[in-house]
Amino acid sequence: MAGRTAAGERRRVYRSGRWCEGCWSLSTWVNPYMTDRIEGGCLCGAVRFAVTGEPLNVAWCHCESCRRHSGAPVSVFLAVRRGEFEVSKGEITRYNSSPARWRGFCSRCGSTLTCEGNANSPEVHLHIGSIDNAARFVPTRHIFPEERLPWLHLTDGSGTAN
Ligand SMILES: [Zn+2]
Ligand SMILES: [Zn+2]
Repeated sequence: MAGRTAAGERRRVYRSGRWCEGCWSLSTWVNPYMTDRIEGGCLCGAVRFAVTGEPLNVAWCHCESCRRHSGAPVSVFLAVRRGEFEVSKGEITRYNSSPARWRGFCSRCGSTLTCEGNANSPEVHLHIGSIDNAARFVPTRHIFPEERLPWLHLTDGSGTAN
């Protein structure tokens, strides 16, 4: 009886992407994006959100608009499907920074949260710093590399310096 409980517990943990179902050991081959749910939110906790599907990609963005919005020299975004993104607590305030470009933040603490197109656009881009377990999402591409600050040198996860 106790053994069945333990197995059930392991199966539950496995679905979070950390356990191999075949050998019940910690897995290194499981797709790091495999997860039931990605969760995140702002610094003060007023806004919380969840993603039910897998991210489409993870990318650096070097554009000046992202720099202004975040206050950081570069941003990293998790791109997700709009239909798989839901705000579970509070409300994301949006600023229309350019045509069809909306930048989301918490109106209480100011945390940068999202960058997205109009309401019918298929994707929402989430600032990686708002994700609870950001370490597992490795950026693999660079957007607007020509706007990168010249003193900023990065590796993109592939081992290539940029
Ligand atoms: Zn907040
Ligand atoms: Zn940008």
